[in-house]
Amino acid sequence: MAAGALLLALLLPSACGRRTGYLTDSFLSMDTVITVSLGKDTPDAEKIFAECRRRTEECRVIFDAHDPASALSRLNASAGGMTVPDELADVVSLAARVSEASGGAFDFTLLPVSTLWRNAEARGSLPTGEELAAALALRGAGSVSVVREDGAAVVRKAPGQTLDLGGIGKGAAEMTLLSYLSAESGAPYGVLSFGGNVAVFGEKPDGTPFVIALRDPSDPSGTAAELELSGGEFVSVSGDYERYYEIDGEKYGHILDPETGFPADGGLLSVAVVTHDGALGDALATALFVLGEEKGMALYRSEKLAFEAVFVRDGGLTATPGLAGKIRAAEGFVFDVSAP
Ligand code: AMP
Ligand code: MG
Repeated sequence: MAAGALLLALLLPSACGRRTGYLTDSFLSMDTVITVSLGKDTPDAEKIFAECRRRTEECRVIFDAHDPASALSRLNASAGGMTVPDELADVVSLAARVSEASGGAFDFTLLPVSTLWRNAEARGSLPTGEELAAALALRGAGSVSVVREDGAAVVRKAPGQTLDLGGIGKGAAEMTLLSYLSAESGAPYGVLSFGGNVAVFGEKPDGTPFVIALRDPSDPSGTAAELELSGGEFVSVSGDYERYYEIDGEKYGHILDPETGFPADGGLLSVAVVTHDGALGDALATALFVLGEEKGMALYRSEKLAFEAVFVRDGGLTATPGLAGKIRAAEGFVFDVSAP
């Protein structure tokens, strides 16, 4: 993966500022930077940070496709599926729902295609049509199912199929951490940043909402908009400006169009999705980036899945109606709240 892959997709002005006095811990896991920010009066913060690292590692050994020992890698290596931890089965079920609702735009069976692009980057030339066709032959979320056998969760798949949960796994792990932080840790409030996924919990002492800055995809040091979040809300951002394959001086985004195997081009620079379910938000951000604004708004209006979204184009953005009053576009951005 090209340099810059670890930059955060979101800025957290309030959490990062020393003035506000959050206690923070940052670490690397699941191919991303994770930052836990706790209200400054949190008792036993060091213990909470250690517990967050431990729980993240528990998630990593399930979802990390790059670790051959992870539950996901073992599932991928199995012929037609196997018994898996409940956490993995739940995420595969949700991924299948998002795949169905998005008409296949979210496709978690593209691992052979991602691997092809990674190898293409290493050798310095684009994948050939033949290579792409071969890698696309095994795709198809419809061949993946989750069943229960003797009380255990089993994922079934076509022989040779391999799953890529890179578009949903971080949000799923983030959700696990957020429920620990909000329900068990004793921390009164805080912010959790998981790569392109941010979640907040509790209530700030002054009663004001959390404010998250969405990065301007065309200017990594700039802001496209500020978004208000309340405790229990997640925001996930997908874009192709920070993770990409670089081949012969050209950048190829890591979010793929399942039809062609080439980087998706839905006409957007990035998409932010606000939900109460971090795994759903993560998957939907990836799906909406593929779909683009028009089809994305159609999915929103279908009410198949509960979410709000911000579609970021070059110099402009559109928010879904539920974000009216909660989002402020930065100067220079043409801003629009879509009709319901
Ligand atoms: P995200 O950063 O959450 O948008 O997820 C992007 C990651 O999801 C990529 O790095 C791939 O691992 C995987 N991916 C790529 N294209 C798709 C797609 N169309 N549907 C689902 N996952 C994808
Ligand atoms: Mg995603």
